[in-house]
Amino acid sequence: MFFKFPNNKIVQSTREFYALGTVIQFKAYGKKADKVCDMAMDKINEIENNMSVFKGNSEVSTINKNAGIGQVKVSRGTYYVNKKAVEYGRMSKGAFDPTIRPVVGLWGIQTENPRIPNTDEINRNNRLVNYKDIILDEQNHTVMLRNKDQALDLGAIAKGFAADEVKNIFCKHKIKSALIDLGGNIFALGNKPNDTPWKIGIQDPFKKRGEFIGVICVTGRSIVTSGNYERYFMNNDKRFHHIMDPFTGNPSENGVISATIISDYSIDGDALSTCAFVMGIEAGLKLAESIEGVDALFITENKKIYTTCGIDNELEVTSKEFLRGPIKWK
Ligand code: ADP
Ligand code: MG
Repeated sequence: MFFKFPNNKIVQSTREFYALGTVIQFKAYGKKADKVCDMAMDKINEIENNMSVFKGNSEVSTINKNAGIGQVKVSRGTYYVNKKAVEYGRMSKGAFDPTIRPVVGLWGIQTENPRIPNTDEINRNNRLVNYKDIILDEQNHTVMLRNKDQALDLGAIAKGFAADEVKNIFCKHKIKSALIDLGGNIFALGNKPNDTPWKIGIQDPFKKRGEFIGVICVTGRSIVTSGNYERYFMNNDKRFHHIMDPFTGNPSENGVISATIISDYSIDGDALSTCAFVMGIEAGLKLAESIEGVDALFITENKKIYTTCGIDNELEVTSKEFLRGPIKWK
């Protein structure tokens, strides 16, 4: 049973605000929910101030300005996210690459003026992309990019870290039930207030926001989706989206249009959803199956759904338009 309060009401607090380039929503239940939501908002703003490439004075911008020049001492969080980002670069053999910024900047996908760069520009900037050039010094907590003009972009992992940090604040203050939603990067803390699992909708990539292909039931887990429908521009009926293939310098194109990861930590879910999106069905499923406690769901452009074995009981596909691919992929 979920605890109730003197007047037999569950205390609920909600927040909705814009940060980290997306709409953030908290729903928390518990005596201190209101105060804790405020603390969580402060944490999100701190993370944005440290890690955004769009803020000139952020730690990440300082690392970028000092590329090829010198080490930059950073906060515990920024160091940790860089370290995890390099791990995922290695694990995905470069499909995930936090030094993708020169390519992302060229396409301008998150700006007012996106454009299709020419092949020379793409090749020139893509040569700068290499996660192996992130030099980490654990003892001094410094980060440096080896070469001039290289630049970090933690956009594919920072929201996951932020969700974990918010969850930690909630847990520390004894919040037992909460939904933390950072623009589709979700952590479902505990159960719903009525003590049944949270039901998280998986966005139908072909429909408007809030229309789902189905739901996944979870208790105390992270669900993160990388989709081609999040940020993109259209040119001659072709969609150019924001998840880049570091091997080509172009938006990733392998048939996958949505990759969802279910995991205990959202930082892993965020990084892995981007990895899986770029790696494609076969390699992505293999990677997810190889990590304890991690599950994956893919949607392809020809309306097929592929999943790891672990989420069969938790997943309910409600849309009739999608077919399930083979359950086992080994
Ligand atoms: P979202 O930001 O929509 O949650 P992702 O987590 O997949 O989606 O992150 C995409 C963002 O990460 C892009 O906007 C870009 O800043 C950066 N990025 C793009 N491609 C890659 C990549 N292959 N590896 C690492 N980061 C990437
Ligand atoms: Mg991601």
